[in-house]
Amino acid sequence: MKRIRYSELDHCELCEWRCGVNRNEGELGVCRIESPIVASCQLHPAPPQSYTIFVAGCNLRCLNCQNFSIAHYPDKFDILRGWVEPKKLAQEALERMDSPFGRLINADFIFFSGGAPTPSLPYIIDIINEARKLRPKVKVNYDTNGYMTEESLEKIAKLITTFTFDIKAFYSETFSALTGANVEPVLRNAETLITKWREKIWEIRILAIPEIIDREEIKDLAEFIGQFDTTVPICFLAFRPNFILDEHMGATIMYMEDLVEIAQDAGLENVSWAGSTGIAGNILKIPKKDPKLEKLQFEKAKIASYYAMSHGCKNIPRNCKKCEYTHKCEIKKYYPRRVT
Ligand code: SF4
Ligand code: SF4
Repeated sequence: MKRIRYSELDHCELCEWRCGVNRNEGELGVCRIESPIVASCQLHPAPPQSYTIFVAGCNLRCLNCQNFSIAHYPDKFDILRGWVEPKKLAQEALERMDSPFGRLINADFIFFSGGAPTPSLPYIIDIINEARKLRPKVKVNYDTNGYMTEESLEKIAKLITTFTFDIKAFYSETFSALTGANVEPVLRNAETLITKWREKIWEIRILAIPEIIDREEIKDLAEFIGQFDTTVPICFLAFRPNFILDEHMGATIMYMEDLVEIAQDAGLENVSWAGSTGIAGNILKIPKKDPKLEKLQFEKAKIASYYAMSHGCKNIPRNCKKCEYTHKCEIKKYYPRRVT
């Protein structure tokens, strides 16, 4: 079936990059996605148990990306499923949730992930609306990096049941070094979510990367969240070496437990951690004098930025929109030596 031409893509401002490009006419913004496609779908036993739809592409360029082969669509080779008519995908999701394995794992959510779902938002809204025609009370989770406009947040929040919401760092230097974007919109959206849509938060997820996300940053982030609501579910995810950080050391149990304690000491009441720990690796040694790194205040932002630089990023501090290499970015071309 022919792809749907979504009017929102005529002047795309779905995410906070607000590129304003006409994706329907082949113009590319920071995400470099023309029209939405599906990377893959599967029943997923991790809570919330679901039929998970991974859409291709992403609006960020995270150094630690675990799903780089689909997040970097269309710049990396992978076998992706492609365009699927929303009605067909909605039917498929419900059928798979009702299948013996779906019932065994109690899959009662349609879970949108990626890459990032926001560059595909109109398509996702179509799928949700089709699913609700068939099953009005079907639950939906939106898994997001938080880098969306207020308008996009409002639109999706009205429709879905829950969010899993990533805050990849709290300080702007750390956030931009890790993702290539500004942290402010993510913190603004986190605040909106907590103050306006609290009941829709499944959990806020914070990736814990040793030597990059430290105690001080977690304390400040926990206090930021706690000023709005101390009961928000927070889950620290243990970093596993991946993508540009393929040689970096994995998180240890001691580090994860320490972060939980810091968040609790800052007043948060519902904190946990998850993931695999103890994967061996190194900490990158940064040069003592480098004019680009000297612009940065924090050692940890220097470490993350030096990883980016040594893999071809030419724009430090990273900002993937204000960069002449947005459409010929070496970071996107990288294939890791190991994936854990
Ligand atoms: S990066 Fe964001 S605003 Fe830019 S084209 Fe992609 S989805 Fe639209
Ligand atoms: S080279 Fe430019 S587009 Fe690529 S990661 Fe660095 S800042 Fe982003």
